[in-house]
Amino acid sequence: MKQQDLVEIEPEPPSPGEACLDENFLKNETNGFVIPDSFFRYAEKHYSPDPVSDFRQRHFPGVSLKSWNDWRWQLKNRICRARDLEKYIMLSPAERAATTLENLLPLSITPYYMSLVHETDSEDPVRKCVIPNVRELIKGPGEDDDPLHEDQDSPVPGIVHRYPDRVLFLSTGFCSTYCRYCTRSRIVGQRGVYGIEKWNQGIEYVQSNPQVRDVLISGGDPLTMNDDQLEYLLKGLRQIRHVEIIRIGSKVPAVLPQRITRKLCAMLKKYHPLYMSLHFTHPCELTDESMQACSKLARAGIPLGSQTVLLKGVNDNPETMKKLNHKLLQARVRPYYLYQCDPVPGSGHFRTTMEKGLEIIQGLRGHTSGYAVPQYVIDLPGGGGKIPVLPGYYQGRNEQGQVFKNFENKIFAYPEPLAGNHLN
Ligand code: SF4
Repeated sequence: MKQQDLVEIEPEPPSPGEACLDENFLKNETNGFVIPDSFFRYAEKHYSPDPVSDFRQRHFPGVSLKSWNDWRWQLKNRICRARDLEKYIMLSPAERAATTLENLLPLSITPYYMSLVHETDSEDPVRKCVIPNVRELIKGPGEDDDPLHEDQDSPVPGIVHRYPDRVLFLSTGFCSTYCRYCTRSRIVGQRGVYGIEKWNQGIEYVQSNPQVRDVLISGGDPLTMNDDQLEYLLKGLRQIRHVEIIRIGSKVPAVLPQRITRKLCAMLKKYHPLYMSLHFTHPCELTDESMQACSKLARAGIPLGSQTVLLKGVNDNPETMKKLNHKLLQARVRPYYLYQCDPVPGSGHFRTTMEKGLEIIQGLRGHTSGYAVPQYVIDLPGGGGKIPVLPGYYQGRNEQGQVFKNFENKIFAYPEPLAGNHLN
């Protein structure tokens, strides 16, 4: 393969403009805003049996279904300029104000994912995840560009080596759709940061560290690379004898499901044992297209897990989380982690209290199948790593044994074995 074939796809830069933060936007987003009549017909969308198809016919009438289902067409037609957003949605004042700002996260939304965004409701959970908001300018205490201190645990560019037996391999800074709460907001969307030279350095690092048995390829989003680029990395890592498993972290099945082609799956199958950590946030993301994408990956023998970020106003209640996890299981994706949102700058409007996370786990455990209950974790700021956070089921010890409170708040004891009752 030629070196130029491996050059990453360059993202669009964020839209330039003047900063303009009006406090009133933060207090009342609808203040003085007149809804144009033309938008009322759009409000019907979420009652449509097929909102994706409706959106395509309305906004891309000349585009064939074949083109729409082509992931390269989706990438080429991403919505990357803030001024284009109003072609698709009615911006709230806080969103419109953000369209004039610079130094925000880059903007990029695939047409497919845009079809899931509610046109008129700025409180729509999917919309909150991808549409810029002026609140991103507010930097709260403790918020940091690199809250997990990944850069400090990086022995060579593109590798984060925190835990002894595994590394994070940053393959690209590009994502088809940028999440407004991204942990790696410091690197996503930057031009020319990754490429074959850094990949080779990363592969050499893994090769020279025999304790590394698990490599997580992440980014940005590795599945936005073409098959040859991805295979170059997989092949390089699979040739290393001590690498037992390879994982890929991706949001592509949620935002660009067209990317999961038969050809891609056939290629991925060659590099087992291969796992995938998918990033789903809300049940609305589990469309027919997305479910089919997950099904193709599962049929290629790839165990799928979901890593969901807990987000205020998006998924921070037990019912939404239960629905999400049930749909994930139907798509053969095991809900794996529920992450407390990392404190990146401007994330205050997304972050919830830890009590909220515990309340959700309590609302799930015992109330649905264990497979639908993810592990709630906090990735400790400062590079402390992930720790599980559990509701207080354990109540201590009494004369009956170890005492626990169950999911209905009833108390039960587990009798301990008698000391010395084993046979030698
Ligand atoms: S897909 Fe992942 S890396 Fe890309 S913007 Fe979203 S959270 Fe960040």
